[in-house]
Amino acid sequence: MTAPVLRTTIAGSLPKPSWLAEPDRLWAPWRLEGAALDEGRRDAVRLALFDQERAGIDIVTDGEQTRRHFVTTFIEGLDGVDFERKRTVRIRDRYDAEVPVVRAAVARRRPVFVDDARFLRGATDRPVKFTLPGPMTMVDTLYDGHYGSREKLAWAFAEILNEEAREIAAAGVDVIQFDEPAFNVFFDEVRDWGVATLERAARGLAGRRTAVHICYGYGIEANIVWKKSLGGEWRQYERTFPLLAASAIDQVSLECANSRVPIDLIGLLAGKDVLVGAIDVATPVIESPEDVARVIRAALQFVPPERLYPCTNCGMVPLARQTARGKLAALSAGAALVRAELG
Ligand code: ZN
Repeated sequence: MTAPVLRTTIAGSLPKPSWLAEPDRLWAPWRLEGAALDEGRRDAVRLALFDQERAGIDIVTDGEQTRRHFVTTFIEGLDGVDFERKRTVRIRDRYDAEVPVVRAAVARRRPVFVDDARFLRGATDRPVKFTLPGPMTMVDTLYDGHYGSREKLAWAFAEILNEEAREIAAAGVDVIQFDEPAFNVFFDEVRDWGVATLERAARGLAGRRTAVHICYGYGIEANIVWKKSLGGEWRQYERTFPLLAASAIDQVSLECANSRVPIDLIGLLAGKDVLVGAIDVATPVIESPEDVARVIRAALQFVPPERLYPCTNCGMVPLARQTARGKLAALSAGAALVRAELG
């Protein structure tokens, strides 16, 4: 039997239905409450799965339909963090946001997403991936008024994330992914403690695959300005990839569509699965299958097909649903084109 090749997946999120949350907003408030909200979120997960399955995506997610934000919704489930009196801080070193404040030792008194992971596992026959924020990105999305050290707080979050991830693994999820967009900003911290805390979060997950998603962020204004400032070639990954290649993490998800990342940098990830972003989430323009195929072919020079997973650059939550569906179909069709060429 030959190994499956070019299995498709997505970075994580999909847009939410307008009856669940206001469309076209990243932190949109819920439009339902109480039991209706619980039911609505699960219905939205079913729709997210339907869209992915119909498009032919091989490893599916819940589209992050049950969370308002990929970092703060997890933090809301923890003790020690104050959501009442927020502070404005600069996050990812480029935009100001109102964020919750750590006022005491952080702790996880109860599971946060484990029921959601169980529901996802039961709602599809396909392999499933579940996403969590990474320790450094959590630290960088709040104000620390207790630990006085980003590293100390990151270790505390890593232990909490590991408790959560172990229970999610036990629920039968196939891949657990940690989102670390902060890895593209704070290179010295990545080297000093970022990868180590990520490995701590991903330790002992009962044989499940572990992934890290690093990226240049959604297509919001601050990110577009930042990307322009990075110059003609984005060589940021050059510092991070060798560290990840030497780490215990199995898969690395990165942005390749319309990015200025020199594709040969992927060669620094030898031995890892590479989730190659072949769909640009910063534009509503839907890629053609050939556009997608071109990115996959370029990446195939550096990654063997059984380790290459065509993927989206980042989450699709800011896009219109119709656009996201079109992009899912293009991703699948583009992968099929290249699969046919491989014979
Ligand atoms: Zn991303």
